[in-house]
Amino acid sequence: MYIVQIASECAPVIKAGGLGDVVYGLSRELENQGHCVEIILPMYDCMRYDHVWGMHDAYRDLWVPWWGGEVHCSVYCGWVHGRLCFFIEPHSGDNFFQRGCYYGAQDDNMRFAFFSKAALEFLLRSNKRPDIIHCHDWQTGLIPVLFNEIYKFNGMSDQKVVYTIHNFKHQGIAGGEILQGTGLNRESYYFSYERLRDNFNPFCLNIMKGGIIYANCITTVSPHHAWEAHYTDEGYGLSHTLHLNQYKFSGILNGIDYNVWNPLTDTYIPTSYSSETFNDKVLNKKALQERLWLESSPKPIVCYIGRLDDQKGVHLVHHAIYYALSQGAQFVLLGSATEPSIHNWFLHEKSFLNNNPDVHIELGFNEELSHLIYAGSDLIVIPSKFEPCGLTQMIGFRYGTVPVVRGVGGLVNTVFDYDYDSEHTSEERNGFVFYETDNQALESALKRALDLYKHNPIAFQKLALQGMQSDYSWTRPGKKYTELYNFIRCSETKP
Ligand code: ADP
Repeated sequence: MYIVQIASECAPVIKAGGLGDVVYGLSRELENQGHCVEIILPMYDCMRYDHVWGMHDAYRDLWVPWWGGEVHCSVYCGWVHGRLCFFIEPHSGDNFFQRGCYYGAQDDNMRFAFFSKAALEFLLRSNKRPDIIHCHDWQTGLIPVLFNEIYKFNGMSDQKVVYTIHNFKHQGIAGGEILQGTGLNRESYYFSYERLRDNFNPFCLNIMKGGIIYANCITTVSPHHAWEAHYTDEGYGLSHTLHLNQYKFSGILNGIDYNVWNPLTDTYIPTSYSSETFNDKVLNKKALQERLWLESSPKPIVCYIGRLDDQKGVHLVHHAIYYALSQGAQFVLLGSATEPSIHNWFLHEKSFLNNNPDVHIELGFNEELSHLIYAGSDLIVIPSKFEPCGLTQMIGFRYGTVPVVRGVGGLVNTVFDYDYDSEHTSEERNGFVFYETDNQALESALKRALDLYKHNPIAFQKLALQGMQSDYSWTRPGKKYTELYNFIRCSETKP
């Protein structure tokens, strides 16, 4: 099969969170299964150019229809750790992708509407006719719409469009200008509840809703989150739309790339190890303590790695720091916040705790350091308010770092409580789970984890090894996506 992924991220060249990991990891797995995969991305000024090999012109003069005129674009092509990626660079006064950041600009709707249009125009003009166009999250939610309303009638009729939603909270709420910009026009047609009109604000369009309605099939990133999005307020206002489209909606659990995340071959950690040489993990703990100026001690290290965002349960992350310290553990936090109030809050904590030898707070995005933290920590805490899938618990398993999580979304599908999970055997249990959003709930699970570490190290190590031996690679999810692609290619699933 010939598959084109269209996304706003692909790790490690463009990574703000899990979306980048998924686009890269899934593409590699699909290629391993024998499919041909290409990835189309925006050419941001701030992407990690050092991760692109052999960048060259792929299509010099791409003219993208925009606001009744045309925007001149160049398309470059290069390999990102073996994956063939196309980067679209528009030459216009809007400087859509020269903002020094991936997201967070006031005109994000227009930036990604343009990218969606340009990606399809590139496929059309370069005569690429994939079997499957797979797009991701609100940034590319207009692709199914544009494909079915415009490009299908321009010689691209055989393609099927898969739309994967990684986060329902960000939907791309836009005004009518995205219609004029992209040439969809016909405001009265699209401003209808059956199409893109937002379910709550009748004066706005909802890009993600458009993706849901127009795609041949929709997935989200774990089975439990598919249920949550459909039946609870985790659908952020789209539950009814999902309900009407449930015949083409499912959840496929993400995987992690076992080549990128492998403590045996990881070049970012000083000592490699596997489940057979688990005792060497402690050398990475020492290296982590040294690198972050923590006191060298056998205390357990609890870590948090992730975006500092309301979604991630920041008040519980904050509480976990102080609770871990009170229980005689060390704490390492690596996080980036886009919201200034959250950034300033953790900046304040950082300076407040600066002289404490048992804690380190690192604000910012640091891929290399994250590997050392996964390898050097004993526990990873993930107290999310909602978590469509979550990758950090799976990476934690891979590095023998036991997760302590709130039981929501994909965490329900992956972390099974050491003491209380009745659906899994003791050999399958791999972490600690709590459910409520208050401090006591987090404390109860973290205490159980720390007590096991302190009072029964053999059982704790067995638990860590069980996580290491589980399989959260892309092999199984990759097969599921292939089955889905095959199914929609051969069926008459209509948008
Ligand atoms: P989300 O997609 O909601 O951000 P996930 O758990 O799905 O969360 O994926 C997070 C990914 O981003 C993981 O690979 C994690 O290691 C990485 N990550 C998150 N924050 C940082 C950071 N500040 N520095 C380095 N890597 C980070």
